[in-house]
Amino acid sequence: MNRKRHQIKAAILLAVAIIVLQIAGCSLPIGEKTAREPKSTNGETIEIHFLDVGQGDATLIKQGSHAMLIDAGNNDKGTAVQSYLQSQGVESLDYVIGTHPDSDHVGGLDVVLYKFPWDTVILPDLEKDTKTYQDVLKVIKDKQKSITFPVAGTSYGLGNAEFTIIAPAAEDYGDNWNDYSVGILLQFGENRFVFTGDAEEDAEQDMAAEGIDLSADVLKAAHHGSDTANTMPFLEEVSPKSVVVSCGEGNSYGHPRAGAMNNFRSIGAEVYRTDEQGTIVAVSDGKEITWNCSPSETWKAGEPTGSQKTGNGEKPAEEPGATELEKGSQDRGGGKNSAGTQEDGYILNTNTRKFHRESCSSVSQMQEENKEYSGLTPQELEAQGYKPCGNCNP
Ligand SMILES: [Zn+2]
Ligand SMILES: [Zn+2]
Repeated sequence: MNRKRHQIKAAILLAVAIIVLQIAGCSLPIGEKTAREPKSTNGETIEIHFLDVGQGDATLIKQGSHAMLIDAGNNDKGTAVQSYLQSQGVESLDYVIGTHPDSDHVGGLDVVLYKFPWDTVILPDLEKDTKTYQDVLKVIKDKQKSITFPVAGTSYGLGNAEFTIIAPAAEDYGDNWNDYSVGILLQFGENRFVFTGDAEEDAEQDMAAEGIDLSADVLKAAHHGSDTANTMPFLEEVSPKSVVVSCGEGNSYGHPRAGAMNNFRSIGAEVYRTDEQGTIVAVSDGKEITWNCSPSETWKAGEPTGSQKTGNGEKPAEEPGATELEKGSQDRGGGKNSAGTQEDGYILNTNTRKFHRESCSSVSQMQEENKEYSGLTPQELEAQGYKPCGNCNP
């Protein structure tokens, strides 16, 4: 009797021990970063194209017959991005992500959304009244589709690949549009890629704190290699072997900044950059990643020329080193202003024929039908008969 009881007890203990061991073996203890088993690559590859769109972002991801696009450069880059996608045999897009409303990211997106059939568009839950952003929202409405808002931790399939939303990881970043950037972690086999738009320090902290394993082989440098992002704690969290910087040659913001370049170097990452190398393509078979060029060896930081008043003396991005994509579009070098910190151009009032900074208080009071976005320089605008606003002194 007694003996049998002991045997039952022992059997129960053994069963419990086995269950505990199994749990410990196939999932991580609570509180640790969650990691998932990757899908099978089925012997296929994934291609990541970091398009050279001058100062801006546009990334094409292709897996088999599936494709997605993250951002599409400035307003004048839409057609060039469209041609590039067509040259790569892209006929439709499973996903289109507009990381945040800045024109160097979603400027060209309206063209792409008009020209290609697509399934899902992901935009941050952030209403912005700029002409550029309204253009994007208008196509979505015209196509009778709805916007998918990002929810951190949600995963989506892209053929044999999968991506997980990692940002925004908090709801309120005040007026800093960059921090609302949609960020994703893309996984194909054992290879992982992190994209964070223009997310800056606060957003990086929130991503690192949200409990998703961010370790990756490749990081697309945030905010064109700005030193307001790419902070050491975040870089250590991702711990990438390779970093890709998307920025325009001779851009006025001084991207990539020396501080960010130093951080990339100190974590031992190799750096690829579109301002030096044009469009960069990484191909993964799920185990190894091959690149269409060697890493940059210049470690050259950009030089901010934020004090320039006009774009006239500015070097537009169609100098040596410009790619086909670059040459295929008329680049005006993007909108620049004397502060050199804002990425957008100017807001025109087509009725009063005045132009304003986007931050100008009169912009919000402007009638929608009179409002127009322009990437032209103040001098070019004056040549067209526009006068600078006396309040914001653009
Ligand atoms: Zn931005
Ligand atoms: Zn940007």
